[in-house]
Amino acid sequence: MSATNFPTGVPSVEDLVAGGALFVANHSGGKDSQAMLIRLLDVIPRAQLLVVHASLGEAEWEGALELAQGQSEAAGIPFLVAHAVKTLFEMVERRFKVRPGPNSSCWPSASNRQCTSDLKRDPIQREVRRYAKAHGYTSIVTCLGIRAQESPGRAKRTPLSVNKRGSIAGRSWFEWLPIHDLCTAEVFLTIERAGQTPHWAYAAGNQRLSCVFCIMGCASDLANGAKHRPELFAKYVEIEQRTGYTMHQSRRSLTELVAKGNAVLTSGGAA
Ligand code: SF4
Repeated sequence: MSATNFPTGVPSVEDLVAGGALFVANHSGGKDSQAMLIRLLDVIPRAQLLVVHASLGEAEWEGALELAQGQSEAAGIPFLVAHAVKTLFEMVERRFKVRPGPNSSCWPSASNRQCTSDLKRDPIQREVRRYAKAHGYTSIVTCLGIRAQESPGRAKRTPLSVNKRGSIAGRSWFEWLPIHDLCTAEVFLTIERAGQTPHWAYAAGNQRLSCVFCIMGCASDLANGAKHRPELFAKYVEIEQRTGYTMHQSRRSLTELVAKGNAVLTSGGAA
């Protein structure tokens, strides 16, 4: 975490700590958030840490919120839950009603991730703004468990940057990716070495922990979701069939993807 790794004009993490910044760990309950918080606790004073979980309600894996809360409480760090003003399903139904034409899907897409912006990013920023104001912080560092290994796009992300959207006169806001350099094995090792256990969905076969049915999820994760949350699976399938729009970015139906995922899981692979 040397200052030399960061672009000119962006303070180092050490400077931000010394300047009394608030470091906010966005915690989904997944392995990357968990490993990130373990790393943060090594370098950021607890008094400058806050953990926030964006609740996706019934769309998220059971136990994700509790894992984030449990890890925060065990470390003695304040924990907040950010709630969106609408649910994922309300968003989808609204988009279906107001869609401009048949080529406009009611589901969010990889290029228009309204699910992330409206259900996670904006509610978290709202909570953080309130917390920072109430506690007199004028400098905020949002910490995200994004890793270079995940995709070429994520590999290009700068580990520490200015959050221009959040920075205003009298308040500076930064974005930091503390585990950008870790590979998946190192993430699990970090959790194990800290004497912790990742969310149970990984042991149940999941690659990632996000929404149970993510628009970008792999087939085996979707199949695992359908196995553990059959009532939620039925709800997504009903919306797909009623609206005629598929949830997944591949444009294949969830039923088809789950069948593919089940075949992969049966053969012992992942896809
Ligand atoms: S996990 Fe997937 S579906 Fe859920 S908010 Fe994120 S991108 Fe959207």
